[in-house]
Amino acid sequence: MTGVVIIGGGHAGFQCVDSLRKGGYAGPIALVDADPHLPYQRPPLSKGYLLEGADPDTLLFRTAAYYSEQSVNLHLGVAAAAIDRERHTVQLSNGLSLSYDQLVLAPGASIRPLRVTDEIADQVHYIKALGDIDRISAQLGTAQDLVVVGGGFIGLEFAATARKLGKNVSVLVRGPRIMNQNVTPELSGFMLEQHRAHGADIQLNTSIETVSRLDNGSFEILTTDGRTLSCDMLVAGIGVTPDTRLAEAAGLECDEGIVVDASCRTNDPAIFAAGDAVSFAHPLADRRIRIESVQNAVDQAKVIAANICGERAEYDSVPWFWSDQYEFKLQMAGLHQGYDRVVQRGTTESGKFTLFLYRGERLIAVHTVNKPADHMAARKLLAAGISPSFAEAADESLKLNGLLKR
Ligand code: NAP
Repeated sequence: MTGVVIIGGGHAGFQCVDSLRKGGYAGPIALVDADPHLPYQRPPLSKGYLLEGADPDTLLFRTAAYYSEQSVNLHLGVAAAAIDRERHTVQLSNGLSLSYDQLVLAPGASIRPLRVTDEIADQVHYIKALGDIDRISAQLGTAQDLVVVGGGFIGLEFAATARKLGKNVSVLVRGPRIMNQNVTPELSGFMLEQHRAHGADIQLNTSIETVSRLDNGSFEILTTDGRTLSCDMLVAGIGVTPDTRLAEAAGLECDEGIVVDASCRTNDPAIFAAGDAVSFAHPLADRRIRIESVQNAVDQAKVIAANICGERAEYDSVPWFWSDQYEFKLQMAGLHQGYDRVVQRGTTESGKFTLFLYRGERLIAVHTVNKPADHMAARKLLAAGISPSFAEAADESLKLNGLLKR
């Protein structure tokens, strides 16, 4: 018995370790990650972490003692270089070779780099790993004017944090609205107003044409709509691409992600995959999808661990994710693509409201702002396939949990 090897120490990788041991798996477990830190949580990196004194220990899933108590062999600061599927081994960048009975791929996704000259490329900040935050923290104290490229979660969460720190922030958004892929125009419009009300300069339909470095160390940016901006720091959050390199090189099926079945198994029965890098058919979607969220990583890892422990588990969780920007907690449940009706409960003026998104009469997603109870109830409604009528959805006096009993 050579055990389980897990590649990737993010949410999926860590969860797999924990669920394997909780599920009674007694064999050897090895966890490999190119990041040198003990496995840690990433959501705070773009949110409060920069505000709150940046103690990396607060991010750890578990301290070092957990891994020794659970007999988990950590290979940190080491990349997985190749998989030999015939021999059931993983070659590491430090020359070690690990044997596996079952291999779990949780490699996550790679930053999409901003297209700038080589000279500027080294100066652009991204937010993905603790090392990125160390570099940002080292400059943020003295930087006053920041330009953020990208109107997705990283860009907006970082912009909100930087505003709280009193920085001048301009955000360049290439499309007509922020969080274009992940929320409805209603929510996007609401949050655009909030960012502007908090003093962030959000510029829509624009991006970077060129960047040059001035003698005083600052950047001069020419935007695609012909304006010139200058800043002390340039941060980009323009999305990620699934890290399929290892899987592809090993001949595993990949199609905009590592392809897995409902049990999160690849086309090699000894290899599972979970998290941002994985492409799968979700029962709530009409096509193969990839989901970049903590929930997806964690729930897929639980399914993998259960299968390795001998259960027949399948992944069908309702997707959900969240974002914190200023005093607003956005929580999204379900898959909203293809909705044709929005029913609102609560007013935008109150800063607390819920958007019910329907396709026909079927509820397919619920987006909430500062309404955690509605979010929790919505996840249960969506999992149970219960669609409130439009009138019920709009009626603030009606408790959503009550609908679960019918
Ligand atoms: P994202 O949320 O996918 O947003 C990417 C943004 O960059 C979008 O506004 C996109 O515009 C824009 N963009 C894409 N290519 C561009 C280009 N070439 N030039 C200019 N703009 C471009 O990704 P992210 O904000 O970079 O976040 C990275 C990852 O971290 C994602 O997996 C994200 O889900 C995850 N994350 C999640 C959370 C959360 O769930 N709260 C928080 C932080 C990070 P379009 O919309 O027009 O495509």
